[in-house]
Amino acid sequence: MSLDKNEIRQKYTSVTTFLRKERGKHLCQCGCNQVIDLKQSHFWNGIPRFIFGHAARLRQGAKVFDKDLYYCVEDIARIAGVSDQTVRLWNRNGLIIASETIGRKNLYKKTDIDAFLTSRPERCSFNPDLYYSVQELKQMGVSRGKLRAFARAGKIQNPRHHARKTFYLKSEIDTYLDEILDDKQDSHPRSRLTVSVINNLQWRISELEERVKLLEDCLLRV
Ligand SMILES: [Zn+2]
Repeated sequence: MSLDKNEIRQKYTSVTTFLRKERGKHLCQCGCNQVIDLKQSHFWNGIPRFIFGHAARLRQGAKVFDKDLYYCVEDIARIAGVSDQTVRLWNRNGLIIASETIGRKNLYKKTDIDAFLTSRPERCSFNPDLYYSVQELKQMGVSRGKLRAFARAGKIQNPRHHARKTFYLKSEIDTYLDEILDDKQDSHPRSRLTVSVINNLQWRISELEERVKLLEDCLLRV
């Protein structure tokens, strides 16, 4: 059925006749029965037995596993409603352990996974009103390092991550705000900036108050 390069050398002397005569005569041997699209390179290298990528189908076919006993990563992701990546992360963190491997596919015992999924705590939804983002805290003059130090000391919880941002619990931060802001406040460029902005605003307010007074006086005279 398929021709190797030596057979092609014996049969044909030119690429064009090779293509004309052999085109459409070679089917993929994976079982899909699709015609292999002949290319010029096949004249030199021989006609492949499979359409590119189809050889893997045969290999996958050999790797069947008992669906009554095992889940693969994709199965778990579907059942748990998470991404494949999350399931792989669970595996890496030791939360679930693959009991079997076929090729590069990890298989997990159904009983283990069902137990793990039912014991998994419900994810509590994220309420942004309860948290300060690190960006907000930075604007308040609190540095990341300081927050980490407080978390390390156990004064505040470890930060929560949501949508690629880091959050700290408002109530905890407010409790320690004096301490967190205490030192180096004046030397912090941000807070110096804040002080000057506030001064500027206060000055503007007093200006406006004066104008209002003038207008009121004018109105009284009229
Ligand atoms: Zn095929």
